Amino acid sequence: MPDPHSEHGVELRKIIHVDMDAFFAAVEQRDHPELRGQPVIVGGDPAGRGVVATCSYEARRFGIHSAMTAARARSLCPQAVFVRPRMDAYREASRQVMGILRCYTPLVEPLSLDEAFLDVTAATADGILAVQIAREIRARIERETGLTASAGVSYNKLLAKLASDWRKPNGLFVVPPEHGLAFLAPLPVGKLHGVGPATVKKLSAMGIHTVLDLRNASRQVLIAQLGKAGLWFYDVARGIDRRPVQTSRPRKSVGYERTFPQNLEDPKVMLSTLRQMAGQVSARLQALGLAGRTVSIKARFPDFETVTRAHSDAQAIWRTEAIIACLPGLLAKAVPAGLPMHASVRLLGVTVSGLVNVEAVSPEAGQMNLLEEPVDLR
Ligand SMILES: [Mg+2]
Repeated sequence: MPDPHSEHGVELRKIIHVDMDAFFAAVEQRDHPELRGQPVIVGGDPAGRGVVATCSYEARRFGIHSAMTAARARSLCPQAVFVRPRMDAYREASRQVMGILRCYTPLVEPLSLDEAFLDVTAATADGILAVQIAREIRARIERETGLTASAGVSYNKLLAKLASDWRKPNGLFVVPPEHGLAFLAPLPVGKLHGVGPATVKKLSAMGIHTVLDLRNASRQVLIAQLGKAGLWFYDVARGIDRRPVQTSRPRKSVGYERTFPQNLEDPKVMLSTLRQMAGQVSARLQALGLAGRTVSIKARFPDFETVTRAHSDAQAIWRTEAIIACLPGLLAKAVPAGLPMHASVRLLGVTVSGLVNVEAVSPEAGQMNLLEEPVDLR
């Protein structure tokens, strides 16, 4: 049995992952009692090209899930009630939930409006169990917000997150250190943090389907096949995750993207649309005091294939004109002329990444906000 205080030289923490159940839909059902018990879909217009943001558990029974097109959701469940998002209401509920979490530890890392990690290692030093804290948090959230949350308790972020998913909705699950390896073993590798569809494919081609399969692969083989990520997979297969709970995560990129009501077919229109987006990205960078070295654009074609093309420079930029200067070249690469399948796009986006604080870029940084007119953010 592993030493409960350290494993492979990694100090074990006490981590809780709290995840609200069907958050947007649950807020709608709370505020509109006539929606309770109904398949509720929060998202875009099913007559247009919107997607599902969240749906109630009643809707999930019809096979509906987040990111599916709203039109497809309606064909799966014609009686579903479609609701447009009310972000203000969700933000307010989120603020309440995060406030409750911060009563137990200052080490709270929100991942989105509706989920967060808590490090309660210090809070449990005097004998209170992490699971008691998780129980109390769930009860308080339900009492104070009228919404339910699921929680997972374990010795690192990886396992706490998997645990919160285990008894969803309105559940609580604990993975103690002595059960970590057995809990992980049968899970499909796609459940692991950082393992996306492309990696699942690669691993599957290597005969690796479950976490146990992954554990049986040597470190050398994983690194040879997957590069640096192989090291992470080697560790997580053994339940090792050293990532600390971070109270404020450094932002990695600033971007803006849009799905159009009708596909764009004219490259000139695509370019002018991208220019407008560059203005929005620039305004956001200015507001955050950031600049970035990489400009990328994203294009999604009618068949949903999505490409991104990036351009990096030694000099970090934030001004609209500097971002715009990269766009024609990137658009030509992302949407090359003469490919009929990829002649039109349903989505375009512009992102600036490789971010640095703007003071590091320019001595005039303090006056940056005066250098450029703010852009209308509609
Ligand atoms: Mg959730």
